[in-house]
Amino acid sequence: MIIEPNIRSNFFTSAHPFGCRQNVLNQINEAKSLKSFEGPKNVLIIGGSSGYGLASRIALAYGSNANTINVSFENEPKASKTGSAGWWNNIYFQEFAKETKNIHKDFVGDAFSQEMKQDVMSYIKTHFGHIDLVIYSLASGARMNYSTNELVRSHIKTLGEDAVGKTIDVVNKEIYDLTVTQASEQDVKDTVYVMGGSDWYDWLKALDQANVLNQFVKTVSYTYIGGPTTVKIYRGGTLGKAKEDLEKHAAIIDALLKEKYQGEAMISSSKAVTTKASVFIPQMTIYVSCLYEVMIKHNVHESILKHKHRLFSDMIYGDKRILDDLNRIRLDHLEMDEHIQKETIDMMMRLSNEELLQLNGTKIFLRDFYQINGFEFDSIDYTQEVNIESLSELQPL
Ligand code: NAD
Repeated sequence: MIIEPNIRSNFFTSAHPFGCRQNVLNQINEAKSLKSFEGPKNVLIIGGSSGYGLASRIALAYGSNANTINVSFENEPKASKTGSAGWWNNIYFQEFAKETKNIHKDFVGDAFSQEMKQDVMSYIKTHFGHIDLVIYSLASGARMNYSTNELVRSHIKTLGEDAVGKTIDVVNKEIYDLTVTQASEQDVKDTVYVMGGSDWYDWLKALDQANVLNQFVKTVSYTYIGGPTTVKIYRGGTLGKAKEDLEKHAAIIDALLKEKYQGEAMISSSKAVTTKASVFIPQMTIYVSCLYEVMIKHNVHESILKHKHRLFSDMIYGDKRILDDLNRIRLDHLEMDEHIQKETIDMMMRLSNEELLQLNGTKIFLRDFYQINGFEFDSIDYTQEVNIESLSELQPL
C-alpha cells in the first residue's frame, strides 16, 4: 500500500513505518554525537514509545549504556490500518539497539492495569534483578478503572470561564479559534485520575513490594509549567490540576524511596515540544511555534533528544541540577528565561495569522507534527509501496 497522512480533526490515523524508522535513527545518531555519562544500568520507562519517553529511552540506551524496558500502548498494523507511530518506533528502536548489546524489552498493553505491572515485575526478576531508574512518561486521554470497569476520560478544560485560543489546522495550514469550556468538578476529578500521579505511585509501590528496586533508585516524571499565554488553559485548567497531583505524588514517592533505598523521586519541568496533543490545547501551537522561532534566533533551541539527554547527564546524574522552591527540576529554564518569554509573547500578540503561518518556527512545528507520525522526511520516497503485510510479522521484542 502507499501510505499517506490520514488526518481526521487534527488527529493522525496513519503512520509511515519507514518515516518512524528514520525518526528513531535520527535520535539515535544525535545521542551518539553527545557525551556519554555515568548513569543507571537498568531503566524502566512507562510510556517510552514516543515523545519524551522515547527520547529518554534513546538518551539512556546510548548515553549511559543502559538496559531498558518500555511499557506502551500502541496499535499494531491490521489489514488496511498502518499501525500507530509508537508501534513502529518500538520495532525500529529494537532493530537499531541490537548494536548496544544490551537488553531492551517492550511490553505493549495497558500500563494502568495490575496485570501489566505483574508481567513487568516477573520480567525484571528473571532478566534484570533490579531497576535503577523508573521514568513515568505516560500521556493518555483515558484510563480504565479496573475496580468499576469504567473508562475514565481526561478533559482539556478551564477552571474559570470558557477560554478561546488559536490553533492550527494541520491539513489546510490555517489558524482558527478553538474554544475550551469550563470544567465540572467531575471533569477535574477524571482528568486527575487519568493524568495525575496515582498510577505512578502504584508502579513504585508494586516495584517495592516485588523487591526489584535497587539501592539509590531514582524515579522521575515530567510536568509542564509554561508561561502566561497558556496559563488559563494549561496550568490553570484541568491539565494543571492533574500536574499538581503528579507533583504531590512525587513527594509521597520520594519519602518511600528515601527511607528504604536512599533513593529519590523527582519532577522535571520539561520544555514545550511538538506533541500529538499540542493542537488540542488552544494557544499551544502558536506559543510553541513562536517559542521555536525565538529560541532558534538566540541559539538555545534544543531537540527533544538533546533536552532529555541534558536532563540525565547534567541534572539527574550530573551536578548541574536547577531546582525551584517546590523542588522541581527546571530543565525548562531556557524556555522560561524572561527575555525568551517576553519576545515570544510579543511575537504572538503582534503578528497576524498570516504572518504567524510564515514563521520558520511554525514551519518547524508543522514538520515535527508530521514527522512524529513518520511523514515529511526528505530521505523517504512516499510514492513507494509499503508491504505492510510482511512488516506486520515484525513484533516488539
Ligand atoms: P506522547 O503522547 O508522545 O507519549 C505518551 C506515551 O504514553 C506513549 O508511549 C504511549 O504509548 C504511552 N501510553 C499512553 N497510554 C498508555 C497506557 N494506557 N498504557 C501504556 N502506555 C500508554 O506524550 P509526551 O508528549 O511525550 O508526554 C509525556 C509526558 O511528558 C506527559 O506527562 C506530558 O504531560 C509531559 N510533558 C510533555 C511536554 C510536551 O510539550 N510534549 C512538556 C512537558 C511535559
